[in-house]
Amino acid sequence: MERLLVIGGDAGGMAAASQARRRKPYMEIVALEKGNRTSYSACGIPYLVAGDVQSADELVARTPEEFRDKHRIDVRMHHEVMGIDLDARKVEVRDHSRERTFQLGFDLLQIGTGARPIRPDLPGIDLPHIHGVQTVDDGVALLERARQSNCRKVAVIGGGYIGIEMAEAFVRWGAAVTLIEGNDQVMRTLDPDMAAPIVQAMRRQGIEVRLGVRAQGFDDKQVHTDAGAIDADLVVLGLGVTPNSELAGDAGVTLGVRRAIRVNRRQQTSVEGVYAAGDCAESFHRVSQRQVHVALGTVANKQGRVAGINLGGGYATFAGVVGTAITKVCSTEIARTGLNESEAKRNGFAYETVTISSTTRAGYFPGTQPISIKLLAEHGSRRILGAQIVGEEGAAKRIDVLATAVTAEMTVDQVIDLDLAYAPPFSGVWDAVHIAARKGAEALDREALEQTETT
Ligand SMILES: Cc1cc2nc3c(=O)[nH]c(=O)nc-3n(C[C@H](O)[C@H](O)[C@H](O)COP(=O)(O)OP(=O)(O)OC[C@H]3O[C@@H](n4cnc5c(N)ncnc54)[C@H](O)[C@@H]3O)c2cc1C
Repeated sequence: MERLLVIGGDAGGMAAASQARRRKPYMEIVALEKGNRTSYSACGIPYLVAGDVQSADELVARTPEEFRDKHRIDVRMHHEVMGIDLDARKVEVRDHSRERTFQLGFDLLQIGTGARPIRPDLPGIDLPHIHGVQTVDDGVALLERARQSNCRKVAVIGGGYIGIEMAEAFVRWGAAVTLIEGNDQVMRTLDPDMAAPIVQAMRRQGIEVRLGVRAQGFDDKQVHTDAGAIDADLVVLGLGVTPNSELAGDAGVTLGVRRAIRVNRRQQTSVEGVYAAGDCAESFHRVSQRQVHVALGTVANKQGRVAGINLGGGYATFAGVVGTAITKVCSTEIARTGLNESEAKRNGFAYETVTISSTTRAGYFPGTQPISIKLLAEHGSRRILGAQIVGEEGAAKRIDVLATAVTAEMTVDQVIDLDLAYAPPFSGVWDAVHIAARKGAEALDREALEQTETT
Protein backbone atom coordinates (compact mmCIF):
# COMPACT_ATOMS: atom_id res chain seq x y z
CA MET A 1 0.00 0.00 0.00
CA GLU A 2 1.21 3.51 -0.86
CA ARG A 3 2.52 5.25 2.27
CA LEU A 4 2.55 9.01 2.92
CA LEU A 5 4.88 9.96 5.74
CA VAL A 6 4.36 13.31 7.42
CA ILE A 7 7.04 14.93 9.57
CA GLY A 8 5.58 17.46 12.04
CA GLY A 9 2.19 17.35 13.72
CA ASP A 10 1.05 20.95 13.42
CA ALA A 11 -0.37 23.10 10.62
CA GLY A 12 2.10 22.42 7.81
CA GLY A 13 2.06 18.67 8.45
CA MET A 14 -1.48 17.86 9.54
CA ALA A 15 -3.32 20.14 7.09
CA ALA A 16 -1.54 18.16 4.37
CA ALA A 17 -2.29 14.81 6.02
CA SER A 18 -6.00 15.64 6.32
CA GLN A 19 -6.35 16.77 2.71
CA ALA A 20 -4.46 13.76 1.39
CA ARG A 21 -6.75 11.46 3.42
CA ARG A 22 -9.88 13.05 1.86
CA ARG A 23 -8.63 12.31 -1.63
CA LYS A 24 -7.06 8.92 -1.02
CA PRO A 25 -9.19 7.04 1.51
CA TYR A 26 -7.01 3.92 1.32
CA MET A 27 -3.52 5.43 1.37
CA GLU A 28 -1.52 4.64 4.52
CA ILE A 29 -0.71 7.93 6.29
CA VAL A 30 1.78 8.02 9.16
CA ALA A 31 2.47 11.32 10.94
CA LEU A 32 5.49 11.65 13.22
CA GLU A 33 5.55 14.39 15.87
CA LYS A 34 8.37 14.76 18.35
CA GLY A 35 6.25 16.68 20.87
CA ASN A 36 3.05 15.65 22.64
CA ARG A 37 0.38 17.70 20.84
CA THR A 38 -1.00 17.90 17.32
CA SER A 39 -2.66 20.80 15.48
CA TYR A 40 -2.14 23.32 18.24
CA SER A 41 -2.33 27.09 18.11
CA ALA A 42 1.02 28.60 19.10
CA CYS A 43 -0.70 31.89 18.22
CA GLY A 44 -2.79 31.46 21.37
CA ILE A 45 0.20 31.19 23.76
CA PRO A 46 0.32 34.91 24.67
CA TYR A 47 -3.41 34.75 25.52
CA LEU A 48 -2.92 31.57 27.57
CA VAL A 49 -0.21 33.35 29.56
CA ALA A 50 -2.33 36.50 29.85
CA GLY A 51 -5.26 34.46 31.24
CA ASP A 52 -7.72 35.01 28.37
CA VAL A 53 -7.51 31.29 27.59
CA GLN A 54 -7.95 29.07 30.63
CA SER A 55 -6.23 25.86 29.58
CA ALA A 56 -3.59 24.74 27.09
CA ASP A 57 -6.02 22.05 25.86
CA GLU A 58 -8.22 24.80 24.43
CA LEU A 59 -5.38 25.63 22.03
CA VAL A 60 -5.53 22.19 20.43
CA ALA A 61 -7.73 22.11 17.34
CA ARG A 62 -7.45 18.35 16.80
CA THR A 63 -5.94 15.75 19.10
CA PRO A 64 -3.89 12.71 18.03
CA GLU A 65 -6.87 10.52 18.99
CA GLU A 66 -9.17 12.48 16.68
CA PHE A 67 -6.71 12.09 13.81
CA ARG A 68 -6.46 8.36 14.49
CA ASP A 69 -10.17 7.65 15.05
CA LYS A 70 -11.86 10.02 12.62
CA HIS A 71 -9.27 10.32 9.87
CA ARG A 72 -7.40 7.01 10.13
CA ILE A 73 -4.09 8.87 10.26
CA ASP A 74 -1.48 6.92 12.23
CA VAL A 75 -0.19 9.77 14.41
CA ARG A 76 2.80 8.80 16.52
CA MET A 77 3.73 11.17 19.32
CA HIS A 78 7.23 11.59 20.79
CA HIS A 79 8.57 10.28 17.49
CA GLU A 80 11.39 12.41 16.13
CA VAL A 81 12.74 12.01 12.62
CA MET A 82 16.53 12.03 12.90
CA GLY A 83 17.46 11.67 9.23
CA ILE A 84 16.00 11.25 5.73
CA ASP A 85 17.48 8.91 3.13
CA LEU A 86 16.04 10.08 -0.16
CA ASP A 87 17.66 7.34 -2.26
CA ALA A 88 16.32 4.51 -0.08
CA ARG A 89 13.05 6.45 0.52
CA LYS A 90 13.12 5.95 4.28
CA VAL A 91 13.55 7.97 7.48
CA GLU A 92 15.31 7.17 10.73
CA VAL A 93 12.96 7.69 13.67
CA ARG A 94 13.68 8.03 17.38
CA ASP A 95 10.77 6.90 19.55
CA HIS A 96 11.50 8.89 22.71
CA SER A 97 8.80 7.18 24.77
CA ARG A 98 10.34 3.71 24.27
CA GLU A 99 13.90 4.88 23.71
CA ARG A 100 14.33 2.98 20.47
CA THR A 101 15.36 3.93 16.96
CA PHE A 102 13.92 2.40 13.81
CA GLN A 103 13.57 3.01 10.06
CA LEU A 104 10.36 3.71 8.23
CA GLY A 105 9.92 3.71 4.46
CA PHE A 106 7.78 6.12 2.44
CA ASP A 107 6.45 6.60 -1.06
CA LEU A 108 5.47 10.23 -0.50
CA LEU A 109 6.90 12.60 2.10
CA GLN A 110 5.45 15.79 3.60
CA ILE A 111 7.87 17.97 5.58
CA GLY A 112 6.21 20.28 8.11
CA THR A 113 9.00 20.75 10.64
CA GLY A 114 8.17 24.41 11.31
CA ALA A 115 10.61 26.98 12.61
CA ARG A 116 13.00 27.24 15.51
CA PRO A 117 13.09 30.28 17.81
CA ILE A 118 16.35 32.20 17.71
CA ARG A 119 18.23 31.66 20.98
CA PRO A 120 21.47 33.64 21.05
CA ASP A 121 24.52 31.99 22.56
CA LEU A 122 24.86 34.41 25.49
CA PRO A 123 26.17 33.70 29.00
CA GLY A 124 23.34 32.42 31.21
CA ILE A 125 20.92 31.78 28.31
CA ASP A 126 20.12 28.29 29.69
CA LEU A 127 19.06 29.53 33.13
CA PRO A 128 15.62 28.16 34.07
CA HIS A 129 13.89 31.54 34.18
CA ILE A 130 14.71 32.29 30.52
CA HIS A 131 11.91 31.11 28.25
CA GLY A 132 11.29 30.91 24.54
CA VAL A 133 7.69 30.52 23.33
CA GLN A 134 7.40 28.33 20.26
CA THR A 135 5.21 25.39 21.28
CA VAL A 136 2.23 25.08 23.59
CA ASP A 137 4.52 23.19 26.00
CA ASP A 138 6.78 26.26 26.05
CA GLY A 139 3.72 28.35 26.92
CA VAL A 140 2.74 25.96 29.72
CA ALA A 141 6.30 25.96 31.13
CA LEU A 142 6.37 29.76 31.07
CA LEU A 143 3.03 29.97 32.81
CA GLU A 144 4.13 27.52 35.52
CA ARG A 145 7.32 29.47 36.09
CA ALA A 146 5.38 32.74 36.26
CA ARG A 147 2.98 31.24 38.83
CA GLN A 148 5.81 29.79 40.95
CA SER A 149 7.91 32.93 41.00
CA ASN A 150 4.86 35.23 41.18
CA CYS A 151 6.90 37.30 38.77
CA ARG A 152 7.13 40.95 39.60
CA LYS A 153 9.80 41.97 37.10
CA VAL A 154 9.72 40.61 33.57
CA ALA A 155 12.14 41.35 30.75
CA VAL A 156 11.10 40.66 27.17
CA ILE A 157 13.95 40.46 24.67
CA GLY A 158 12.83 41.49 21.19
CA GLY A 159 10.18 43.92 19.96
CA GLY A 160 8.57 41.88 17.19
CA TYR A 161 4.98 40.70 17.41
CA ILE A 162 5.71 37.84 19.81
CA GLY A 163 7.70 40.18 22.08
CA ILE A 164 4.98 42.80 22.28
CA GLU A 165 2.22 40.21 22.78
CA MET A 166 4.22 38.67 25.66
CA ALA A 167 4.84 42.14 27.12
CA GLU A 168 1.08 42.68 27.20
CA ALA A 169 0.56 39.26 28.83
CA PHE A 170 2.76 40.22 31.76
CA VAL A 171 1.32 43.73 32.07
CA ARG A 172 -1.94 41.86 32.66
CA TRP A 173 -0.18 39.97 35.47
CA GLY A 174 0.59 43.32 37.07
CA ALA A 175 4.34 42.80 36.54
CA ALA A 176 6.83 45.58 35.82
CA VAL A 177 7.70 44.80 32.19
CA THR A 178 10.82 45.98 30.37
CA LEU A 179 11.06 45.31 26.64
CA ILE A 180 14.55 45.44 25.16
CA GLU A 181 14.93 45.88 21.41
CA GLY A 182 18.35 46.02 19.75
CA ASN A 183 17.12 48.15 16.84
CA ASP A 184 15.81 51.67 17.08
CA GLN A 185 12.17 50.66 16.55
CA VAL A 186 9.78 47.90 17.56
CA MET A 187 7.80 45.99 14.90
CA ARG A 188 10.38 46.17 12.13
CA THR A 189 7.83 44.95 9.62
CA LEU A 190 6.38 48.48 9.84
CA ASP A 191 8.03 51.73 8.80
CA PRO A 192 9.70 53.68 11.64
CA ASP A 193 7.06 56.46 11.53
CA MET A 194 4.28 53.92 12.12
CA ALA A 195 6.26 52.02 14.79
CA ALA A 196 6.91 55.19 16.86
CA PRO A 197 3.30 55.55 18.10
CA ILE A 198 3.35 51.88 19.16
CA VAL A 199 6.24 52.63 21.52
CA GLN A 200 4.36 55.65 22.89
CA ALA A 201 1.27 53.50 23.45
CA MET A 202 3.31 50.78 25.16
CA ARG A 203 4.89 53.33 27.47
CA ARG A 204 1.46 54.75 28.28
CA GLN A 205 0.41 51.24 29.22
CA GLY A 206 3.28 51.00 31.68
CA ILE A 207 5.78 48.97 29.60
CA GLU A 208 9.33 50.27 29.77
CA VAL A 209 10.61 50.12 26.20
CA ARG A 210 14.38 50.29 25.74
CA LEU A 211 15.33 50.77 22.08
CA GLY A 212 18.85 50.27 20.69
CA VAL A 213 19.73 48.09 23.71
CA ARG A 214 21.22 44.62 23.28
CA ALA A 215 21.19 41.80 25.82
CA GLN A 216 24.71 40.51 26.56
CA GLY A 217 24.01 37.88 29.19
CA PHE A 218 21.82 36.79 32.08
CA ASP A 219 22.11 35.89 35.74
CA ASP A 220 19.48 34.85 38.29
CA LYS A 221 18.25 38.37 38.86
CA GLN A 222 19.33 40.53 35.95
CA VAL A 223 19.65 40.88 32.21
CA HIS A 224 23.03 42.39 31.36
CA THR A 225 22.89 44.73 28.39
CA ASP A 226 25.22 47.12 26.60
CA ALA A 227 23.31 49.89 28.43
CA GLY A 228 23.53 48.47 31.96
CA ALA A 229 21.69 45.79 33.95
CA ILE A 230 17.92 45.33 34.05
CA ASP A 231 16.28 43.53 36.99
CA ALA A 232 14.20 40.52 35.92
CA ASP A 233 12.92 37.45 37.71
CA LEU A 234 11.55 36.13 34.42
CA VAL A 235 12.88 36.60 30.88
CA VAL A 236 10.95 35.90 27.67
CA LEU A 237 12.75 35.63 24.33
CA GLY A 238 11.03 36.99 21.24
CA LEU A 239 13.91 37.22 18.80
CA GLY A 240 12.26 35.73 15.75
CA VAL A 241 12.55 32.33 14.15
CA THR A 242 14.62 30.51 11.61
CA PRO A 243 13.29 27.72 9.33
CA ASN A 244 13.73 24.25 10.81
CA SER A 245 15.11 22.88 7.56
CA GLU A 246 18.31 21.03 8.55
CA LEU A 247 16.76 17.57 8.12
CA ALA A 248 15.67 18.41 4.59
CA GLY A 249 18.88 20.26 3.73
CA ASP A 250 21.11 17.45 5.04
CA ALA A 251 19.15 14.95 2.95
CA GLY A 252 19.84 16.95 -0.20
CA VAL A 253 16.57 18.87 -0.62
CA THR A 254 17.28 22.33 -2.08
CA LEU A 255 17.02 25.25 0.36
CA GLY A 256 16.37 28.87 -0.58
CA VAL A 257 15.74 32.21 1.15
CA ARG A 258 16.94 32.15 4.78
CA ARG A 259 17.56 28.40 4.27
CA ALA A 260 13.83 27.73 4.04
CA ILE A 261 12.92 24.70 1.90
CA ARG A 262 12.51 25.71 -1.74
CA VAL A 263 9.08 24.81 -3.06
CA ASN A 264 7.19 25.42 -6.27
CA ARG A 265 3.55 26.57 -6.52
CA ARG A 266 2.33 23.05 -5.68
CA GLN A 267 4.55 22.87 -2.56
CA GLN A 268 6.80 20.33 -4.29
CA THR A 269 10.44 20.43 -3.22
CA SER A 270 13.39 19.76 -5.51
CA VAL A 271 12.88 16.00 -4.92
CA GLU A 272 10.16 13.97 -6.65
CA GLY A 273 7.35 13.00 -4.25
CA VAL A 274 8.66 15.21 -1.42
CA TYR A 275 6.57 18.21 -0.39
CA ALA A 276 6.99 20.91 2.28
CA ALA A 277 4.71 23.50 3.89
CA GLY A 278 4.62 26.03 6.70
CA ASP A 279 7.38 27.75 8.62
CA CYS A 280 10.06 25.43 7.20
CA ALA A 281 9.26 26.41 3.59
CA GLU A 282 9.57 29.44 1.32
CA SER A 283 6.63 31.48 0.02
CA PHE A 284 6.19 33.56 -3.11
CA HIS A 285 5.47 37.27 -2.51
CA ARG A 286 2.87 38.50 -4.98
CA VAL A 287 3.93 42.16 -4.87
CA SER A 288 7.74 41.88 -4.89
CA GLN A 289 7.51 38.75 -7.08
CA ARG A 290 10.28 37.21 -4.99
CA GLN A 291 10.67 34.18 -2.77
CA VAL A 292 10.38 35.10 0.93
CA HIS A 293 10.22 33.32 4.27
CA VAL A 294 7.05 34.15 6.22
CA ALA A 295 6.49 32.23 9.46
CA LEU A 296 2.75 32.62 10.01
CA GLY A 297 -0.05 30.21 10.83
CA THR A 298 -2.20 31.57 8.01
CA VAL A 299 0.45 30.62 5.46
CA ALA A 300 1.24 27.24 7.06
CA ASN A 301 -2.40 26.15 6.93
CA LYS A 302 -2.90 27.24 3.32
CA GLN A 303 0.35 25.70 2.11
CA GLY A 304 -0.40 22.48 4.01
CA ARG A 305 -3.80 22.24 2.34
CA VAL A 306 -2.25 22.73 -1.11
CA ALA A 307 0.46 20.13 -0.45
CA GLY A 308 -2.16 17.66 0.80
CA ILE A 309 -4.39 18.04 -2.25
CA ASN A 310 -1.39 17.38 -4.50
CA LEU A 311 -0.19 14.46 -2.36
CA GLY A 312 -3.69 13.03 -2.63
CA GLY A 313 -3.46 13.06 -6.42
CA GLY A 314 -5.34 16.34 -6.98
CA TYR A 315 -4.11 19.65 -8.36
CA ALA A 316 -3.74 22.79 -6.24
CA THR A 317 -1.39 25.76 -6.20
CA PHE A 318 -0.48 28.24 -3.48
CA ALA A 319 -1.13 31.72 -4.80
CA GLY A 320 1.50 33.34 -2.58
CA VAL A 321 1.47 35.92 0.19
CA VAL A 322 1.14 39.69 0.27
CA GLY A 323 2.71 40.03 3.72
CA THR A 324 -0.44 40.55 5.77
CA ALA A 325 -0.09 40.40 9.55
CA ILE A 326 -1.96 41.69 12.58
CA THR A 327 -1.31 41.96 16.30
CA LYS A 328 -2.04 44.09 19.35
CA VAL A 329 -0.38 45.30 22.49
CA CYS A 330 -2.88 46.09 25.24
CA SER A 331 -5.48 48.31 23.57
CA THR A 332 -3.31 49.28 20.60
CA GLU A 333 -3.93 47.40 17.36
CA ILE A 334 -1.32 47.01 14.62
CA ALA A 335 -1.56 45.58 11.10
CA ARG A 336 0.28 45.60 7.80
CA THR A 337 -0.01 44.26 4.28
CA GLY A 338 1.96 44.45 1.04
CA LEU A 339 5.33 46.20 1.08
CA ASN A 340 6.61 48.75 3.58
CA GLU A 341 8.88 51.55 2.42
CA SER A 342 12.19 49.73 2.80
CA GLU A 343 10.79 46.68 0.98
CA ALA A 344 9.35 48.84 -1.80
CA LYS A 345 12.70 50.64 -2.25
CA ARG A 346 14.66 47.39 -2.18
CA ASN A 347 12.44 46.05 -4.94
CA GLY A 348 12.84 49.13 -7.12
CA PHE A 349 9.30 50.54 -6.87
CA ALA A 350 8.61 54.28 -7.29
CA TYR A 351 5.75 55.29 -5.03
CA GLU A 352 4.02 57.99 -2.98
CA THR A 353 3.17 57.60 0.69
CA VAL A 354 0.34 59.17 2.64
CA THR A 355 -0.60 58.81 6.30
CA ILE A 356 -4.05 59.72 7.50
CA SER A 357 -5.64 59.98 10.93
CA SER A 358 -9.30 59.20 11.36
CA THR A 359 -11.69 57.40 13.69
CA THR A 360 -12.99 53.85 13.87
CA ARG A 361 -16.64 55.00 14.19
CA ALA A 362 -18.44 58.20 13.25
CA GLY A 363 -16.56 61.01 14.99
CA TYR A 364 -19.54 61.79 17.22
CA PHE A 365 -20.36 58.18 18.11
CA PRO A 366 -19.65 56.96 21.67
CA GLY A 367 -16.56 54.78 21.88
CA THR A 368 -15.01 56.02 18.65
CA GLN A 369 -11.25 55.38 18.60
CA PRO A 370 -8.30 56.80 16.67
CA ILE A 371 -6.90 55.03 13.60
CA SER A 372 -3.87 55.90 11.44
CA ILE A 373 -3.35 54.39 8.02
CA LYS A 374 -0.21 54.69 5.94
CA LEU A 375 -0.55 53.82 2.28
CA LEU A 376 2.08 53.24 -0.41
CA ALA A 377 0.80 53.73 -3.98
CA GLU A 378 2.84 53.13 -7.10
CA HIS A 379 3.65 55.86 -9.61
CA GLY A 380 2.16 55.20 -13.02
CA SER A 381 0.00 52.16 -12.23
CA ARG A 382 -1.61 53.90 -9.18
CA ARG A 383 -1.99 50.50 -7.53
CA ILE A 384 -1.66 50.09 -3.77
CA LEU A 385 1.68 48.49 -2.91
CA GLY A 386 1.21 48.29 0.82
CA ALA A 387 -0.53 49.62 3.92
CA GLN A 388 0.06 49.84 7.65
CA ILE A 389 -2.48 50.52 10.38
CA VAL A 390 -2.00 51.58 14.01
CA GLY A 391 -4.99 52.44 16.16
CA GLU A 392 -7.25 51.47 18.97
CA GLU A 393 -10.15 49.00 19.09
CA GLY A 394 -11.72 48.40 15.68
CA ALA A 395 -8.74 49.72 13.70
CA ALA A 396 -6.55 46.82 12.64
CA LYS A 397 -8.97 44.42 10.92
CA ARG A 398 -9.52 47.09 8.27
CA ILE A 399 -6.24 45.75 6.88
CA ASP A 400 -8.27 42.95 5.25
CA VAL A 401 -9.85 45.40 2.80
CA LEU A 402 -6.40 46.70 1.93
CA ALA A 403 -4.92 43.18 1.70
CA THR A 404 -7.69 42.34 -0.77
CA ALA A 405 -6.91 45.50 -2.72
CA VAL A 406 -3.18 44.67 -2.81
CA THR A 407 -3.93 41.08 -3.89
CA ALA A 408 -6.28 42.24 -6.65
CA GLU A 409 -3.73 44.92 -7.70
CA MET A 410 -6.41 47.57 -7.23
CA THR A 411 -5.62 51.23 -7.77
CA VAL A 412 -6.29 53.92 -5.18
CA ASP A 413 -9.12 55.10 -7.44
CA GLN A 414 -10.80 51.69 -7.37
CA VAL A 415 -10.53 51.61 -3.56
CA ILE A 416 -12.18 55.05 -3.35
CA ASP A 417 -15.08 53.56 -5.31
CA LEU A 418 -15.49 50.48 -3.08
CA ASP A 419 -19.00 50.24 -1.69
CA LEU A 420 -17.92 49.63 1.92
CA ALA A 421 -20.51 49.28 4.66
CA TYR A 422 -21.33 52.32 6.77
CA ALA A 423 -23.37 53.13 9.86
CA PRO A 424 -22.18 55.44 12.67
CA PRO A 425 -21.29 52.63 15.14
CA PHE A 426 -18.92 51.11 12.55
CA SER A 427 -17.20 53.93 10.64
CA GLY A 428 -17.46 57.44 9.29
CA VAL A 429 -19.41 57.89 6.07
CA TRP A 430 -16.00 57.82 4.41
CA ASP A 431 -14.25 54.90 6.03
CA ALA A 432 -10.61 55.45 7.08
CA VAL A 433 -9.63 53.14 4.19
CA HIS A 434 -11.47 55.42 1.72
CA ILE A 435 -9.83 58.50 3.20
CA ALA A 436 -6.36 56.94 2.85
CA ALA A 437 -7.10 56.01 -0.77
CA ARG A 438 -8.34 59.55 -1.53
CA LYS A 439 -5.19 61.07 -0.06
CA GLY A 440 -3.13 58.54 -2.00
CA ALA A 441 -4.86 59.52 -5.25
CA GLU A 442 -4.22 63.22 -4.55
CA ALA A 443 -0.54 62.55 -3.85
CA LEU A 444 -0.20 60.61 -7.11
CA ASP A 445 -2.01 63.39 -9.02
CA ARG A 446 0.41 65.98 -7.59
CA GLU A 447 3.40 63.84 -8.47
CA ALA A 448 2.11 63.28 -12.03
CA LEU A 449 1.54 67.05 -12.43
CA GLU A 450 5.07 67.80 -11.24
CA GLN A 451 6.40 65.29 -13.77
CA THR A 452 4.41 66.99 -16.57
CA GLU A 453 5.66 70.44 -15.56
CA THR A 454 9.29 69.33 -15.51
CA THR A 455 9.13 67.66 -18.94
C1 LIG B 1 3.87 32.88 20.42
C2 LIG B 1 3.46 32.77 18.98
C3 LIG B 1 2.40 33.53 18.49
C4 LIG B 1 2.02 33.42 17.15
N1 LIG B 1 0.98 34.19 16.71
C5 LIG B 1 0.58 34.09 15.42
C6 LIG B 1 -0.53 34.82 14.94
O1 LIG B 1 -1.16 35.55 15.70
N2 LIG B 1 -0.88 34.68 13.63
C7 LIG B 1 -0.21 33.84 12.77
O2 LIG B 1 -0.58 33.74 11.59
N3 LIG B 1 0.85 33.12 13.21
C8 LIG B 1 1.26 33.22 14.49
N4 LIG B 1 2.32 32.46 14.94
C9 LIG B 1 3.05 31.60 14.00
C10 LIG B 1 2.37 30.25 13.83
O3 LIG B 1 2.17 29.65 15.09
C11 LIG B 1 3.25 29.37 12.97
O4 LIG B 1 3.45 30.01 11.74
C12 LIG B 1 2.65 28.00 12.72
O5 LIG B 1 2.53 27.29 13.91
C13 LIG B 1 3.52 27.22 11.75
O6 LIG B 1 3.04 25.93 11.62
P1 LIG B 1 4.04 24.77 11.13
O7 LIG B 1 3.26 23.52 11.13
O8 LIG B 1 4.73 25.18 9.91
O9 LIG B 1 5.18 24.72 12.24
P2 LIG B 1 5.10 24.40 13.80
O10 LIG B 1 3.86 24.92 14.40
O11 LIG B 1 6.41 24.86 14.37
O12 LIG B 1 5.03 22.81 13.84
C14 LIG B 1 6.11 22.01 13.45
C15 LIG B 1 6.02 20.73 14.23
O13 LIG B 1 7.00 19.84 13.75
C16 LIG B 1 7.55 19.13 14.83
N5 LIG B 1 8.87 18.67 14.42
C17 LIG B 1 9.94 19.42 14.07
N6 LIG B 1 10.97 18.66 13.73
C18 LIG B 1 10.56 17.37 13.85
C19 LIG B 1 11.19 16.12 13.65
N7 LIG B 1 12.45 16.04 13.23
N8 LIG B 1 10.47 14.99 13.87
C20 LIG B 1 9.17 15.05 14.31
N9 LIG B 1 8.54 16.23 14.53
C21 LIG B 1 9.23 17.36 14.31
C22 LIG B 1 7.57 20.15 15.95
O14 LIG B 1 7.61 19.53 17.23
C23 LIG B 1 6.27 20.92 15.70
O15 LIG B 1 5.19 20.39 16.46
C24 LIG B 1 2.71 32.54 16.29
C25 LIG B 1 3.77 31.78 16.78
C26 LIG B 1 4.14 31.87 18.11
C27 LIG B 1 5.29 31.03 18.61
